[in-house]
Formats: sequence, structure tokens, C-alpha cells
Amino acid sequence: MLIVPERQIPDLLTRSASFTAVEKVFAAMAAGQAYNFPVIREAIGHEDALYGFKGGFDRDGHTLGLKAGGYWPHNLEKRELINHQSTVFLFDPDSGMISAMVGGNYMTALRTAAASAVSIQHLARPDAKVIGMIGAGHQATFQLRAALEQRPFEKVIGWNLHPEMLPNLAAVAEEAGLPFEAVALDGMTEADVIITITSSFAPSLLAEHVSPGTHIACMGTDTKGKQELEAALLGSATVFADEIDQSITLGEAQHAIAAGLISRDDITEIGAVINGTHPGRSSAEEITLFDGTGVGLQDLAVAAAVVDLAVEQGVAIEVDF
Ligand code: NAD
Repeated sequence: MLIVPERQIPDLLTRSASFTAVEKVFAAMAAGQAYNFPVIREAIGHEDALYGFKGGFDRDGHTLGLKAGGYWPHNLEKRELINHQSTVFLFDPDSGMISAMVGGNYMTALRTAAASAVSIQHLARPDAKVIGMIGAGHQATFQLRAALEQRPFEKVIGWNLHPEMLPNLAAVAEEAGLPFEAVALDGMTEADVIITITSSFAPSLLAEHVSPGTHIACMGTDTKGKQELEAALLGSATVFADEIDQSITLGEAQHAIAAGLISRDDITEIGAVINGTHPGRSSAEEITLFDGTGVGLQDLAVAAAVVDLAVEQGVAIEVDF
């Protein structure tokens, strides 16, 4: 079995390898070649922690396994460890033997950013110039870096409930040589692409803040009860998701479904666009929306890419197990 420790992963995993792995696995999901297992997530009654498993099998990618981990809210203050902790375990689909154990913390940010980047690549207008960010926390910087590689953007605008965090976005824009402007929510009408990546439980982005032709990647809502967008936006947009079951139960679509604004049949898996079985955007005025809830297969696909890179570079630790 091979081990790739967390500390090695930032040097191994690139945005482009994450993009390729996530795009491929979304395609396999839509083709019926890959599926996610039901998610387990439990409050364990110790340290206020949430712990769980996300797993799946990708027949095309020959990847079987799970990500185990969760959220320990007191880690930082008590132990100087980050609060999100996860590890990916890969198994040989032919024999069931464990094949690899890979640190999952850094990978989670890159695979989440890759999902919205894939949606931008396949659904945003080719002439998109302005990208708008709602959210400026840990994930937001990864999201913005990956998104900027998908179109020749000329400007970044951002809104955050806690404006003191906006310099995080400004720094990424500066890194890319682009101007950054902090805006009020109604300033988002200038954006051609909007990414939402907050932990909000109430909508921030309303229909009146979005112009025709915009692509919206909703990435923060990954739990029952969370919400970043006014549900009406989903009613007027063409809605895509990583996985429809998750989108309607714990993604942004949960609210539009509950309000009767859309039905399950109104949502298309992004993989269908990648595979060419759905045309994707059909006009320059259409609002496209990607509900990125985060699936276990994304973690497995990126972990498998990390293992390949670690082997190639001779840094994977081999253990007789
Ligand atoms: P973070 O704590 O670093 O940042 C949280 C962000 O949300 C900040 O911008 C903060 O200002 C904003 N925020 C907090 N409360 C808010 C409110 N009530 N209204 C509006 N904004 C609010 O968190 P992070 O690590 O950047 O994660 C952001 C979100 O992304 C979380 O909800 C997390 O669960 C989710 N996430 C999703 C995926 C996925 O695959 N879709 C993967 C990882 C994380």
C-alpha cells in the first residue's frame, strides 16, 4: 500500500491535475459509469465533532474508496490543528485490498475549486470578462484562482458579509494582475460569472443582483438548511449539478424544490454537458447555474491523481500491509 502524507500534497497536486480528474469523474457519473455511495455524517457527541464518510466507485477510472473525516470545531484553539480533517482511502477494485492512504485536507479545497472551474469552462459565456465572488474565506481563494484560468477575465469584484476578509480576494486578483473592487450585492449585476462560497443559512444573492447571461457556481451550500441564493433564481436559470440526489437534498436546489419552483427533472448533471449529451448554454442571455455540492467521487479521483504524481516523483511511501 502507498501513503501520501498531507504535508506533501501542496507540492504534488496542481490545479490542472485536479481539473482533469474532476471533469473526468463528472463525465463518468453522467454516463452511469461511476456512482457515489450514501453519505454518512454523524455528530459523535465528543468535542462537538461532525464525522462521516463519502465513498463511491468509478468503473471508468478504476477507483474505489472513501473519504473519512469531518469538522472538529475546537482543533485550532486547543491543538493548533485545522478544524477540517479528512483522509482518503483507496482500494483495488479487483481484489478489495487497500491500495493507498492520502491526506485529504488540501485536496478538498482543490477538488472543490476544480468543480466550479469545470462548470465555468463548460457553461460560462466565452466572452465573460468580470468575475464576482460572494464569500472570502478559506475556500474562496482556491475558487478564484481556479476560475481565473477558465476565461480571460479582466476584473474581479467581491462581496462578503464580513468585509474585513475581502483582502483575501484582492490578494488573489493582484497575483493574477487583475483589478479588484469591493461591491454591494447589487454591484454583482456587472459580473458575467458569480461564485458563491459562504457558510450562510439565508440567501445573499437575489434575482435582482444577477444579469441575463451570467453563469453562477453555487459552492457553499453542502448541508440541509444552508442557502446562498434566492430560490427564485433557480426557477429562472438553467440548473446543473454535480449529482442530482445531493443537489435536491442538501444543495442549493433543496429550497427551490421545497418551494415548488423547480422539480428534479429540471436539473441536469454537469457530466452530460461534458459528454455532449446536453448542449449546455443555449444563448448569450440564459442564466446558467451549477449547484456544486461536493461528492465523494471527486475526492477519490483527485486522490488517485495525487498517488500517480507521488509515484512518478518517487515520493510515495510504500508500506507492506
Ligand atoms: P470559511 O469559514 O473560511 O469562510 C466562510 C465564509 O462564509 C466567509 O466568507 C464568511 O464571511 C461567510 N459567511 C459566514 N456566515 C455568513 C452568513 N451568515 N451570510 C453570508 N456569508 C457568511 O469557510 P470555507 O472553508 O471557505 O467554506 C465555505 C463554505 O463552503 C462552507 O459552507 C463549506 O461547508 C462549503 N464547502 C463546500 C464544498 C463543496 O464541495 N461544495 C467543499 C468544501 C466546503
